[in-house]
Amino acid sequence: MLIIMEANCTVAQVSAVEDCVRNMGYTPLPVPGPSRTAICVTGNRGPVDSSLLSQLSGVVECIRVTKPYKLVGREVQPEDTVVRVGDVRIGGSNAAVVMAGPCSCETEARTMAIARAVQKAGATMFRGGAFKPRTSPYEFRGLGREALVTLAKVRSELGLPVVSEVMDSESIPMMAECVDVFQVGTRNMQNFSLLNSLAKCGKPVLLKRGLSASFEEWMMAAEYLLSGGNRNIILCERGIRTFSEHSRNTLDLNIVPMVRKVSHLPVIVDPSHGVGHRERVRPMARAALACGAQGLLVEAHTNPATSYTDADQTVDIKTLEGIVRDRDYLAGLEKA
Ligand code: PEP
Ligand code: MN
Repeated sequence: MLIIMEANCTVAQVSAVEDCVRNMGYTPLPVPGPSRTAICVTGNRGPVDSSLLSQLSGVVECIRVTKPYKLVGREVQPEDTVVRVGDVRIGGSNAAVVMAGPCSCETEARTMAIARAVQKAGATMFRGGAFKPRTSPYEFRGLGREALVTLAKVRSELGLPVVSEVMDSESIPMMAECVDVFQVGTRNMQNFSLLNSLAKCGKPVLLKRGLSASFEEWMMAAEYLLSGGNRNIILCERGIRTFSEHSRNTLDLNIVPMVRKVSHLPVIVDPSHGVGHRERVRPMARAALACGAQGLLVEAHTNPATSYTDADQTVDIKTLEGIVRDRDYLAGLEKA
């Protein structure tokens, strides 16, 4: 249930409502918004009886939230969430953000060269993996701390905000010193203890869709982060597993307008993992933007064939420039 308060309600009125919710055995979560003050009731199993609540002073109305996800939905927050990372704004009507970089951070010299190149191509965030989840334990699993030092250098020397995957709660404090956005990979979307820790990390989280997660499961994973106190969440569609063998995953673009309709959270698309073949990345990036994606995560490299990981799906800098041109072209069409 969502309790809508009068626009000029007092702090005392809000705490009286919160106390009443607690006395009923539920947990109140305030939902700040530009146009209204609301309190979301959580922890209820069935419908909440609103008869007591609706009589309290300052309460305008009590709305039943029909979906299992509450804080991520537009029922609770009609306006788009805009996530701020340094000078970059993700979501709302802001220009679609392009995050790019190698799948894995490489030597410092190579990583810095890639970062300079993606920045020149128009990317405004750098994405590089320090800790890589790999199917085989014998494969390259990232340079770890060494890569974090390089990511910190990308940030300080080039001013590019940095996104990197976090695989466990223990790494959060160490990573927080070097990265601006924590990426939750597809395999960890339902790692609830990691989500609980990230809810308290104080930084934005880029939450990839699980490789076989339903829409609702994805939204509920985001709900863990929001209900734990982190409102700066970016959703990322990265393809799901299907019977198709012509691509690494099946990029489910149909979920993008669905997310835009149901949730206020920004949604971006990772066409690289979504297809797994570099020649299809630019067309699918264009399609993603055309259907409403608010950003792209692209694996790009100055010499893609030599990438430590995911070489087949990594595009060169010229292609990345093309993707940025497509973004600007489509933005122009939208305005016209
Ligand atoms: C990645 O971004 O390099 C990655 C491992 O992504 P995913 O979790 O989508 O497979
Ligand atoms: Mn990758």
